[in-house]
Amino acid sequence: MTTIHNLGFPRIGAKRELKFALESYWNGESSLDELKALGAQLRQRNWENQTGLDLVPVGDFAFYDQVLDMSFTLGNLPERVQGFHGDPLDNYFRVARGRSAKGIDDHAACCGSVAAGEMTKWFDTNYHYIVPEFTAATAFMLDASRLLEQLAETRAQGLKAKPVIIGPVTYLAIGKAKDDSNKLALLERLLPVYAELLDTLAAQGVEWVQVDEPILVTELDADWQHALNTAYHQLKDAKVKLLLATYFGQLQENAYLAAGLPVAGLHIDAINDREGVQTLINLLPAHKVLSLGVINGRNIWKTDLAAVLDWIEPLVERLGERLWIAPSCSLLHVPVDLASEQKLDAEVKSWLAFALQKLEELRVLGKALREGRAAVQDALAANQAALAARRASPRVNNPAVEAAVARVNVDMGQRKSAYANRAAKQAGFLKLPAYPTTTIGSFPQTAEIRHARSEFKAGCLDYLGYQAAMRAEIERSVREQEKLELDVLVHGEAERNDMVEYFGEQLDGYAFSQFGWVQSYGSRCVKPPILFGDISRPKAMTVEWITYAQSLTKKPMKGMLTGPVTILNWSFVRDDQPRSASCKQLALAIRQEVLDLEQAGVRVIQIDEAALREGLPLRKSQWQEYLDWAVESFRITANGVGDETQIHTHMCYSEFNDIIASIADMDADVITIETSRSDMELLDAFDSFKYPNEIGPGVYDIHSPNIPTQEHIVQLMKKAAERIPAERLWVNPDCGLKTRQWAEVIPALTNMVAAAKTLRQSV
Ligand code: GLN
Ligand code: ZN
Repeated sequence: MTTIHNLGFPRIGAKRELKFALESYWNGESSLDELKALGAQLRQRNWENQTGLDLVPVGDFAFYDQVLDMSFTLGNLPERVQGFHGDPLDNYFRVARGRSAKGIDDHAACCGSVAAGEMTKWFDTNYHYIVPEFTAATAFMLDASRLLEQLAETRAQGLKAKPVIIGPVTYLAIGKAKDDSNKLALLERLLPVYAELLDTLAAQGVEWVQVDEPILVTELDADWQHALNTAYHQLKDAKVKLLLATYFGQLQENAYLAAGLPVAGLHIDAINDREGVQTLINLLPAHKVLSLGVINGRNIWKTDLAAVLDWIEPLVERLGERLWIAPSCSLLHVPVDLASEQKLDAEVKSWLAFALQKLEELRVLGKALREGRAAVQDALAANQAALAARRASPRVNNPAVEAAVARVNVDMGQRKSAYANRAAKQAGFLKLPAYPTTTIGSFPQTAEIRHARSEFKAGCLDYLGYQAAMRAEIERSVREQEKLELDVLVHGEAERNDMVEYFGEQLDGYAFSQFGWVQSYGSRCVKPPILFGDISRPKAMTVEWITYAQSLTKKPMKGMLTGPVTILNWSFVRDDQPRSASCKQLALAIRQEVLDLEQAGVRVIQIDEAALREGLPLRKSQWQEYLDWAVESFRITANGVGDETQIHTHMCYSEFNDIIASIADMDADVITIETSRSDMELLDAFDSFKYPNEIGPGVYDIHSPNIPTQEHIVQLMKKAAERIPAERLWVNPDCGLKTRQWAEVIPALTNMVAAAKTLRQSV
């Protein structure tokens, strides 16, 4: 009998119940007991939804983050929160957010606000975890209460549960040594706590424990390989069976190591590592379980069930009960329930599967493997019909787009002249002063803007009314910028809800869900648009707004677009063609918009690539291939313009060292980046590479309400000028200003412009 199981379930709730409960508690509007009760209710519902599986995960639910849960289980609390007097869950929120609920901090002078834990991306997903903190003195102490409590809940529900924990080596690898000590030295102290945890679980009658070690799909040096061996040899006497889980990538050179670890079973992501399966079967000792993740836990498409069966049936024949099946990874990364969708295009909807539908697919596969395909004939037939319809749909396949892609040639990604020639022509045309000032695109999204948009969406405001409201906002931001004496203006992005959704909504080949939320961190969720078909642009998307803004001023108005790589990386994308192919289609669509803007007289065009770095593969050996097609897509988008048109790009992160050659290869005339928090040191990357074009290193952090002083900005720019020739420097904030208030923006930009004027005196 083939075991079917699940690695983890979304905790946020089909209607984001957890989000709302958390925020209500944090705002002091509900009690901790109410929050805990909601958590229990969600867990119960999630398990109910997993009935029929042989093993359900327990411990995958988290009030904020599963990594932070693990830190509490291991007793690894940052020193600044130790000795907290209140409820541990409040302390947990203090580590996560720097504070607990309203009303609690205010009264407890002895344990008020603290610095929040750092947050970073969980492998190559858009989920952010709270980084475990270590020092040479870190000690661990088991607190199994969370897992034990939840185990009791599953028992009451009559389910067979498989506790899920993060493995010791991954836990150390994803954490940060605050004192630069060697994290690996802590392994010796950590393992006894894991051993104690496993024994505690065994005492509760647990048979299997899922130990996540996704670090195995990355390149590991000898020390980390050794750590894995040490860890699992030391844990091998535990009285539970360990299912070592890896996901998101391929084991490759780690396959031998993974297969040899003394555990009872191994789970691998057979979506990303299909080729690795055979190797692993050959390597795996005959007593071990092999769990294959055959349903994609990272996208929203229906699985081709017949194809999976064609592939798996012979393996079941060979491995018998040793073969298990599951989704490729935790379902945390997909929305909960497709059935919630009332407005989604019916045709597209018939091709999709969210978490609940993916579990149903798993049940169908399990039944087919146990009882034969005939037992699930109807389900298989329906699945085949949906897939065939998707393959044949003219909404997916657009011959005109395919023809346009086939016509792409290298010239399309090539500017007419080299940067030096273009720069001279642009200078003649734009007549900008030294240290030109600009902003990154958005101005505050005021209550009036949000109100007008929701009225418009609800049908209470007609298009003309909406347009008038947005034009009024655009005019306001143009007037403010003129008063501030900025050099290159922007229209302020009032009409945009989101930098990807705004474009997706206007492109053919995109669909939008109502409840397709995926947790990003804590209570924050994102609703990625669904790129389902060949991409085309029925009509211009931004020209009307930008030309309106330009009509209000004599200063150059910067057109504002989101680049193809960012649109791709923040969407659910097709699984029937490579990401690079979807990216190229997006590039062609945005290229048309660039050319239309130029045609309409817009001479400065910014193409944001905020998420370019996010798309980097987990393994460095695959970076170049990604960078090559990503940069090519950007070049196709941007480089069809004439020499006089100035192309800007913007990236909001501060790590460029390892990708600087590709960034230079994009050949934008100007790049604006986030730098203020790194004190301009990151410009070293640009300097040592002799980055050839212009740079606007952000001079103030837009995430903070603090107003930067003129002196501070001058100082930062002087540091910048030590690294980059002054004639190639721009002065701008780190990123867009949409989350700020006008009352913060005006003084901050006043100081920024004053700083630029000071700097000009010394040129
Ligand atoms: N143009 C966008 C804005 O200003 C850029 C946002 C971003 O880089 N994340 O809001
Ligand atoms: Zn940014």
